Order: sequence, then structure tokens, then C-alpha cells
Amino acid sequence: MKRKIIVFTDLDGTLLDYHTYSFEKALPAIRLLKQRKIPLILCSSKTRVEIEHYQKRLDNQHPFISENGGGIFIPKGYFRFNLAHLGYPIREDHKYFIISLGVAYSILRDAIDLLQDRGFKIKGFGDMTVKEVAQITGLGLEEARLAKLRDFDEPFLFEGDEESLLKAIKEMGLNCICTKEGFYHLMGKNDKGKAIKILTRLYKKEFSHIITIALGNGPNDIPMLERVDYPILLKNPHGVYNNILRPHFIKAGIASAGWNKALIDLLPLLE
Ligand SMILES: [Mg+2]
Repeated sequence: MKRKIIVFTDLDGTLLDYHTYSFEKALPAIRLLKQRKIPLILCSSKTRVEIEHYQKRLDNQHPFISENGGGIFIPKGYFRFNLAHLGYPIREDHKYFIISLGVAYSILRDAIDLLQDRGFKIKGFGDMTVKEVAQITGLGLEEARLAKLRDFDEPFLFEGDEESLLKAIKEMGLNCICTKEGFYHLMGKNDKGKAIKILTRLYKKEFSHIITIALGNGPNDIPMLERVDYPILLKNPHGVYNNILRPHFIKAGIASAGWNKALIDLLPLLE
């Protein structure tokens, strides 16, 4: 039986280039996915509105996963079955069914306040102006504004003893990951892998036989890469794999060009 291929992808440093956030070099593979009607699921630490912005630019109408697996957004009418009785914490708005796996942003902000009171040198997106977020991320001002509209994950800068910070966060029942030197994300027990698992189940219900591919470049992509049939790891901008390479991972190049080549090479082998 013909199996439906599903592709999950991280954005920053994976589909999008470092510094410029361009996906220009990935366009041939993006076109191929469209021709073959292969869903491309954006799965990022970015917010809902940031991902919607990229979906528009990519002409992508598939479900997406925001803020490190905090929220799964499924366009209404996308799946033929009723999502309401599957046992997930689900709500809806005018556009989506939303499965929330993350901790509410207000709780994360309270935790940041508490950590600051305890002397940890932390500065979260919520403590920064749009201009500051733009400066530290390299985003444009409008994109930085969208990056501050958070639901489930607070990115922050930290200087100091990482071990005691992680211990304090764990004691609060929260989770923290470092995505690059000095740059962290505070969140609940959600991760990209848990969100991928749910969406994979939904696609299986819709298509019975599926093959899953995921592409990522950072430590927060590992739970996602470990849940798919074909995990593809991209290099960091210095051309190495961040010490997170597992033996079964498919090795790819850097950001959008590496993303493009990996899919152009792999897809013909699966069909
Ligand atoms: Mg990334």
C-alpha cells in the first residue's frame, strides 16, 4: 500500500538560514513537497503569529507546532474525523483546533520574576523592548514584535552558574533548555517530540500508512528527531553537529541549502 509521507521541520537554522532567516535555497524541495502533496509541518520555538507569518510566505496551510511543542494548531476541517473525542486538551478559535501541551505564559513569567528575585541574572523576552529582542535575535522590528507575543515558552538570556539555575527551575516543576550559548527557553514539560507524537497519531488515523521525516539542528530538536522514521540533522553554522548526532541520524549540510539537498536526495528513495 502507498504510504503518505509527512515532513516535520524546525525553522531557525534548519529551514531558515542563520542570520538572514531566508528559505530561498530550500525552494526546490518545497516545490517538490507541494507537487507530491506531502504535508510540511513547521515545528519551532517560534510563536503562533511568527509561524503564521512564515506559513503565509511558504503558502502552507498545514497544521503547525509552536513554542517547542507548547501548542499544536490544526486548521478547522483539515482532518476528516472529529478531534473532540480523542482525549487531548483541546480548544478552538475561529481558525484552529488548538491542543495545548505547554504551561501558560503568565505562569512562566511569574517564575522568571521569582528567579530574578532570587538573584539569578536572567532577562526574558518579557523584560525586553521590541528593539532589544530584534538586537539579540537579528530579527526585524516587526518580526521581533511577533516574537514577543508568547503563549507557552519564555526565551531568556542568562549569565552565571547554569547548574544552580537548572536546579531552581526543576524545583518549580518547569523545564529549561539551552538552544545556544547563553540563550535559554523556559517552559513546561512539553517538547517537540510529544507534539509530533500526537500529530503523527492524527495523520495515521487519516491515512493509515505513513512515513515520517523530521529535520532539525539543535538540542531542542532531538525529541522530535527521535520520534520519526527518517531523522535528518543539520550542521550548525560552523559546520559541525553540536554533539547531538546519534548513529541513526541522517547527516545533512547547513540550514536551507542542507535542508533542500537532504529532501531532494531522500524523497525519491521513499516513493
Ligand atoms: Mg533550530
